[in-house]
Amino acid sequence: MNKKSVEQLTNLKGKKVLVRCDFNVPLKDGVIQNENRIIGALPTIKALVKKGAKVILCSHLGKPKGEPVPELSLAPVAVSLSKHIGQTVKFADDPTVTGKVTQDMAKDLKDGEVMLLQNTRYRAEETKYGKDEKATEYAKELAALCDDEIFVNDAFGTAHRAHCSNVGVTKFCKENAVGYLMEKEIQFLGNAVENPVRPFVAILGGAKVSDKIGVINNLLEKVDTLIIGGGMAYTFLKAQGKEIGNSLLEADKVDYALDMIKKAEDKGVKLLLPIDNVIGKEFKNDTEFKIVTSIEPGWSGFDIGPKTIELFKDALKGAKTVVWNGPMGVFEFENFAKGTLEVGKAVAELKDATTIVGGGDSVNAVKRLGLADKMSHISTGGGASLEYLEGKELPGVMAADTI
Ligand code: ADP
Ligand code: MG
Repeated sequence: MNKKSVEQLTNLKGKKVLVRCDFNVPLKDGVIQNENRIIGALPTIKALVKKGAKVILCSHLGKPKGEPVPELSLAPVAVSLSKHIGQTVKFADDPTVTGKVTQDMAKDLKDGEVMLLQNTRYRAEETKYGKDEKATEYAKELAALCDDEIFVNDAFGTAHRAHCSNVGVTKFCKENAVGYLMEKEIQFLGNAVENPVRPFVAILGGAKVSDKIGVINNLLEKVDTLIIGGGMAYTFLKAQGKEIGNSLLEADKVDYALDMIKKAEDKGVKLLLPIDNVIGKEFKNDTEFKIVTSIEPGWSGFDIGPKTIELFKDALKGAKTVVWNGPMGVFEFENFAKGTLEVGKAVAELKDATTIVGGGDSVNAVKRLGLADKMSHISTGGGASLEYLEGKELPGVMAADTI
């Protein structure tokens, strides 16, 4: 599925282009704590500036619940953007987002100039597209800012939602493209998972089976090997009749785990579960801990053990596509971080492989362990990347023109 990209937008000189970015940055007392998302948006913005477009940026920030909340103003983002782009990014400080102040600013834009709208979620309609007539009006107002001409969606983090500023506007704009960030996510998460170079190995972990039901089910259709570690492995081990002590268990998902074990057999997928564990007494770093093959009552599995690390590393040898979602243990505690680190290293060291990491905590873990640069792709959208791995079509992606 090829989507129209920024590259394919031509004759932009003098044209207004509305760009949906993901400027949902962490803020504390009005200060941006991490500029990664702003930096991530620069290639698309700079390309449009270079093409001589009049660039109108928009994004949501946090959850203002449909009304102006000064703490969630995008003003600091405009300042940061100006610094990074090297030219002033005008800020339309308009609590109605699309009102006269904004319209006038858009009209006055010169070729190559950039402006930023106020938080799209200052309007309650933003999240109600398709459910409320007023939301259609809001989407029209947004599209009118670029004369109903050209829209670029570069916000992968909200691609699993059909909101006014990422899906609604596309109904009223003539051309709808995806930005560079979105393009990269589609290429890796979409194409690599749909059409992987084999062997294809998926590594799943993290806290709960229930968060990943769709992911496990969908990946079992695609992969050659499925590795399961982390908290969710214990529900699978329980399903196999193993002792799991006080480890994380979702009793109502034991049957599901059994179904998935059977499905793997039917599909000829190699399913690997932990064969030993680092267990602890209490959920804290400085608790008593030891390595065991069978978990005793009163203890909990907080990480995969050394034999499991070797088993998982072996399974990764020669892999050409790897998708990783979910840490192998409670990596936040140093004593239980080794499984995640070692598996992460094994993925990072693979030669000629496409390696993709998705999921909020997994991405944090990989960054914290200093492995991010060695992966082919680190997905920026937590919820959106999980839905992609579930095989769902993302409304934000679907809405862009197909070429
Ligand atoms: P992601 O955000 O990458 O999708 P999850 O949110 O599913 O990942 O899971 C991450 C959390 O799972 C981490 O906070 C980690 O501490 C926890 N976790 C991993 N293994 C275990 C375990 N054995 N017991 C309890 N919690 C675990
Ligand atoms: Mg998480």
